[in-house]
Amino acid sequence: MRLTRNSRSDTAKRTPRSTESLPDISLIGAPVAIIGKSADILRVNREFSAFTGFSDYESQGMPLGGILKISQPGKGTSRGKSVLTMKNGIEAHVSYSISTIPETEFSVLTLISKTETAMLQGKLDTKQMELEKREKYIECFREGVLMMITDLDRNETELKVALKNLKETQVQLVQSSKMTALGELSASLVHEISQPLTVIRGLTFGMLRAMQDGGEHNDKVRLIADAASRMEKIVKHLRTFSRSEPPVLSPIDINAVVRDAFLILNDHLLSHSIETILNLMPVPLALGNPNRLEQVIINLVTNARDAMPEGGVLTITTKEETSDGRPFIRLIVKDSGSGIPDDIISRVFDPFFTTKETGRGTGLGLSISLGIVREHKGDIKIESVKGFGSSFHVLIPALSAG
Ligand code: ADP
Repeated sequence: MRLTRNSRSDTAKRTPRSTESLPDISLIGAPVAIIGKSADILRVNREFSAFTGFSDYESQGMPLGGILKISQPGKGTSRGKSVLTMKNGIEAHVSYSISTIPETEFSVLTLISKTETAMLQGKLDTKQMELEKREKYIECFREGVLMMITDLDRNETELKVALKNLKETQVQLVQSSKMTALGELSASLVHEISQPLTVIRGLTFGMLRAMQDGGEHNDKVRLIADAASRMEKIVKHLRTFSRSEPPVLSPIDINAVVRDAFLILNDHLLSHSIETILNLMPVPLALGNPNRLEQVIINLVTNARDAMPEGGVLTITTKEETSDGRPFIRLIVKDSGSGIPDDIISRVFDPFFTTKETGRGTGLGLSISLGIVREHKGDIKIESVKGFGSSFHVLIPALSAG
């Protein structure tokens, strides 16, 4: 059906109606028409005219069914799809909505062209995609925040552990500086003690000379003289030991170093119910520093003592051996103590690593000992089984003959 201005002549008998009371739709940006009670078009806007080809004037009075196949509009809003016959006779598929205007007998018809629908659908799709992107972004952001929170939690735990370690290290540092102070104090004590000791020893020897052989008190005075000589030896030894010297290396007998160290260690170990076995075989000379090596022996023996709180057996062995054609001296400090658990054995040489209670261990003994042995171009190896004791093997290169 082709609708023209002429075809409207059939409706020329329509009742003229004042359009002033009709709502103003000129500013609505979509194709809109006001429909009267009997489903005839009362007013269209410019967009509607552009869409259909019918001017406002031509449209007025046209039955809506003449251009758009829809049923009689009911109350409220109804939407649908239909075919629109335009002025040029071309039919177009459109979507529409019809809404009744409250408290009037009019309805508003809004046309949505297929292209517009497609455009709207396109816009909708774009918005949908944007929304999905945003959702993904928000999801990533949420995951990122969660990861950050987890990281923060982990960092906090790590920080707490580091802080705990730092506090322990601080306590150990204080302890080691106390040890240094103690070393200095013992050096000055040694100085104070050695003079009265010389007097005691001199006097007892004088008394022995003056006393008749086989006299009543001879044996007792001799015992005092012997004890004084032994104390003098220890004091002399302590003096050299507490003096901090640069490590000068000279040819030394490691067995002599062990014997010197046990001058001070023997009684101490006995008082801890530790039996000591010295198993010293003849060994070649080594290039070393006796004070430093003695410090190693004292550290290893002190650890052995601590590993045997109920007492036990400490065996010190020295022997010569060859490795890769080069002569070495092997010094073994073996205890029958608690042994070292597998999970800490790799850490015992770490500075400040200790399993001893605060105030007892500094965690420096083994790291210092390893440092000293390395100064001697040697090494320390450990053999230990938890519950069955430990053996510390100190390997020092022997001074090659010639
Ligand atoms: P400290 O004796 O001050 O703890 P060390 O560096 O000398 O420091 O020793 C580190 C740790 O190695 C000790 O705390 C202990 O756990 C372990 N350890 C060392 N020697 C022995 C040993 N003979 N038996 C068992 N554990 C040992």
